[in-house]
Amino acid sequence: MKTIDHVIGGEAVASGSGRTAAVYNPATGEQTALVGLASIDEVDAAVAVAKEAAESWREVSIAKRTNILFAFRDLVVRHKADFAAALTAEHGKVLSDSAGEVQRGIENIEYACGLAEHLKGSFSQEASTGIDVYSIRQPLGVVAGITPFNFPAMVPMWMYPNAIAAGNAFVLKPSEKDPSVNLLAAELLQEAGLPDGVFNIVQGDKVAVDRLLEHPDVAAVSFVGSTPIAKYVYMTGTNAGKRVQALGGAKNHMVVLPDADIDLAADAAVSAAYGSAGERCMAISVLVAVGSSADPVIEAIQDRIPDVVVGDGTDPKSEMGPLITREHRDRVASFVENAPTEGATVVVDGRKHTFDGDGFFLAPSLLDNVKPGMACYDQEIFGPVLSVVRVDTYDEAVDLIADNPYGNGTAIFTRDGGAARRFQMDADAGMVGINVPVPVPVGYYSFGGWGDSLFGGSHAYGPEGMYFYTKAKVVTSRWPDPATSSVDLGFPQNA
Ligand code: NAD
Repeated sequence: MKTIDHVIGGEAVASGSGRTAAVYNPATGEQTALVGLASIDEVDAAVAVAKEAAESWREVSIAKRTNILFAFRDLVVRHKADFAAALTAEHGKVLSDSAGEVQRGIENIEYACGLAEHLKGSFSQEASTGIDVYSIRQPLGVVAGITPFNFPAMVPMWMYPNAIAAGNAFVLKPSEKDPSVNLLAAELLQEAGLPDGVFNIVQGDKVAVDRLLEHPDVAAVSFVGSTPIAKYVYMTGTNAGKRVQALGGAKNHMVVLPDADIDLAADAAVSAAYGSAGERCMAISVLVAVGSSADPVIEAIQDRIPDVVVGDGTDPKSEMGPLITREHRDRVASFVENAPTEGATVVVDGRKHTFDGDGFFLAPSLLDNVKPGMACYDQEIFGPVLSVVRVDTYDEAVDLIADNPYGNGTAIFTRDGGAARRFQMDADAGMVGINVPVPVPVGYYSFGGWGDSLFGGSHAYGPEGMYFYTKAKVVTSRWPDPATSSVDLGFPQNA
């Protein structure tokens, strides 16, 4: 059986912990590999190597760092199909979706390539008489990234390109469910000329996470995953004195106003709810049908669901692949099973669609008459289940979103520019789409939700990501003539 190793100091290092986790091909249900789960000592070894590498990496010129990132970007572009294949093999999403994930990751590398611009400080000449003031941004040292299974290539790319560009060394702890794709990233970073030790991978589980959170040489932690773990990581990491950004789960609402183009809204809802089998933190999981939009939009979605081709992600005909594990598939199915007892209506039951083989498949489901207080509304399902909540007015829709503890993304579908503009102000979420169901910001903005979707003030990637990985310093400087020097115990006043 293939084993998946750590990468420490530019070399593959097999775990000696004796603890492993199984990695599956979700489309066949077959185990394809074993990933070694790091011991505390193995995490310490990675951090020690990163610490040493960070000391020299921070002194490498901006020009050289930029060249390495450009070279890495070109290598990832050249190997996009390899990334996509590695992704689909362990995550299950269809190849076109995997390629899309890699492309969105490339955007983040491209942003990092602009480090010369992003890391520029400011300069104020003659802030006071004979005194200049300027700001610089310096790297933090060793920073860690802990990432989820659903975007195994892109979410790490939200983190390490900017972290490395800013002069830090990085330790990645990827999801143990689909860890292989980052081994390719490590190889390409090395090929691009990144010094060994600047980018390291420790495979692992809670043991590795907990060690990174308490390790005195880890200055900052970026986390993306479910809300309970995000909260835990934020509390534990900040308690240990670290800078932490922890992005959590989501329940993204798509509001359909009565004036919306129903076909456009239904196409968007089906794409955003069932794409990647609903395993996207920006997936639409709740459709808020306002007034008379409800019946036509539900009918239009119901009409489209049978056309969604569910199958092995390597089959070019497939539009939706399996779920990540058998247990997760069964948990998702249980929300559909329990929906009627809670008072919801099962309009389309994905469990009725059967599949050959042992893959972790579940076809799309549609629930109507869903209300807060039902498990299918209150919990993050993270699968191909779309819940429709009917409300009478725009204000009720806005209140529903505000009352939900998550606040990742939300979207409105309407032909009324005034209503859309009002919604962008009113919506209680960090990312808003106007006739765009999955409003993932481009790489030169930053990604982050509100409420239980983000702990810590800093959003991921883009300008906020780059700031997260640097600390600011302000220098006040003067070059006086020593002959004019005198003792002055007063507080310096700028005159
Ligand atoms: P998860 O929280 O189970 O795991 C995320 C990471 O935390 C993994 O690396 C895992 O090994 C580690 N981990 C798991 N349990 C732990 C524990 N008890 N202690 C310490 N570390 C632990 O999340 P997942 O199932 O891999 O990913 C899906 C979740 O991620 C969903 O909730 C989804 O909404 C969320 N997500 C959020 C965003 C965002 O940007 N807000 C993006 C992608 C995914």
